[in-house]
Amino acid sequence: MSAGQASRPRIGVLAVQGAVSEHEEALADVGARTSRVRTADDLQGLDGLVIPGGESTTFGLVAGESGLLDALRARIDGGLPVLGTCAGMIMLADGIAGGGPQPLVGGMDIVVRRNAWGRQVRSFEADVAVPVLGDPPMRGIFIRAPWIESAGPSVEVIAEHGGHAVAARDATRIVAAFHPELTGDRRLHRMFVDGVRERDAGQQHEEDTVVGAQ
Ligand code: GLN
Repeated sequence: MSAGQASRPRIGVLAVQGAVSEHEEALADVGARTSRVRTADDLQGLDGLVIPGGESTTFGLVAGESGLLDALRARIDGGLPVLGTCAGMIMLADGIAGGGPQPLVGGMDIVVRRNAWGRQVRSFEADVAVPVLGDPPMRGIFIRAPWIESAGPSVEVIAEHGGHAVAARDATRIVAAFHPELTGDRRLHRMFVDGVRERDAGQQHEEDTVVGAQ
């Protein structure tokens, strides 16, 4: 194992509302350190961030009032890697289909539809193939879940269910409409944390190269 693989990046978990401890457990299982993010100051020193599920309108209101939303936008636009699940995916989207405006972090070239699976279907579970993670499929727990209505060229859809995109990634973001933190399957969290490690190793290399060139 390389030094990069063994490193323990610090991943913040947004703790404004929603399921926090399950993400902390999943991140610890794949070798990351975690801390809770409630204020803009808590973003300092992070290598990555998880935005959990919950209620995106509540999250937008609370984080908007405190200034956290602006701070998040700045850090994420600046390249901080983010994993967003369910409401977290909604927060990272550039737009919402068929809904009124609500405060978002934005920045990912996707349009999502909230509560997309119909009022009757509030929650369901399904096997979701995620080819980049190999076999077996992930067990997707969908709770009043969104789907990805459309995605731009910077975005790779990595999972579909029922003909709809339910997970995607771009250079710095991974999003899922379902809740991987609620199962014991750590593959999505591992992919995220491995990506953070690779990015940190690359940045370290750049710094070494710059120092070496002087
Ligand atoms: N329905 C919620 C929303 O629109 C998301 C649900 C979830 O995160 N489990 O924000």
